[in-house]
Amino acid sequence: MQVLRTTAQMQAYADEQRRKGHRLVLVPTMGTLHAGHLALVNRARREGDHVTVSIFVNPTQFSPDEDLASYPCDFEADCDALGSTGKVDAVFAPEVDELYPDGAEAQAIWITSPELTKYLCGQYRPGHFRGVLTVVLKLFACCKPHVAVFGLKDAQQFYLLRRLSHDLALGIHIAGEPTVREADGLALSSRNAYLNSAERAQAVVLSRAVAQARELMEHGQQQSAPVVAKMTSIIAQAPLATLQYAEVVRTDTLVPVKAFSPGDEIMAAVAVYFDRTRLIDNAIVKIPLSQC
Ligand code: AMP
Repeated sequence: MQVLRTTAQMQAYADEQRRKGHRLVLVPTMGTLHAGHLALVNRARREGDHVTVSIFVNPTQFSPDEDLASYPCDFEADCDALGSTGKVDAVFAPEVDELYPDGAEAQAIWITSPELTKYLCGQYRPGHFRGVLTVVLKLFACCKPHVAVFGLKDAQQFYLLRRLSHDLALGIHIAGEPTVREADGLALSSRNAYLNSAERAQAVVLSRAVAQARELMEHGQQQSAPVVAKMTSIIAQAPLATLQYAEVVRTDTLVPVKAFSPGDEIMAAVAVYFDRTRLIDNAIVKIPLSQC
């Protein structure tokens, strides 16, 4: 497994792999790898024959009041975990000044999508997706993938990146991998490490809420309001939880809908704080033709 530290090294290496005729797959991460990330690596193997994992904690997607300074990192443990899969060919782990050589403040070009970030996390994390879209485009420019794999846990991010590739004609296939969960349903996340034991026990309400939303939508519920009410009431069962949002949106527009039509792809999503730890979850449902 090669470890590449500079954009120039990464680009030369990717060019070489392309010349050899490989189908390159990229898995972007911020490190502190868990089984969710490793599911993306497995998916990457199935999507192509050369897998690069990037590890980069991107400062421009954190707002000043967020957890950039305390974001967990253990590069050696991450490399061990990736090495032991036997499925990763290269790790791209640049320093911040490799991707922002003049400093982020000096950068004049940013990628934004006001349309697709009005709701869900975009509404509450101003600037977050500008940082994500911009850094992922840089990672694409460095790693030159044919395919990039992202988790559906971060569904707004996934749908935005799919549009990035489509709207800017990048020609990169954006693959989405289902959420990997703990035994009780909690979605794996690097941020789960911040939870104390009482919070951890109550955090199961997120997956319960979206599972109930799925159940309603798959069994004939045609209106959003009862789905939102159900998710809200389940989150309220956790005394330590503070709901930030419970929304039901179309996945193509990421805009809330009042009612569904047969064949619509609909996402029910929640964001919940436990003290300062923010967790998200979602259920994505194709509204069945026979039910509506
Ligand atoms: P992060 O390191 O948190 O930026 O995540 C890197 C990638 O892993 C993103 O595409 C995430 O959506 C994905 N990911 C994070 N948690 C999970 C999970 N529990 N299941 C599947 N993918 C995940």
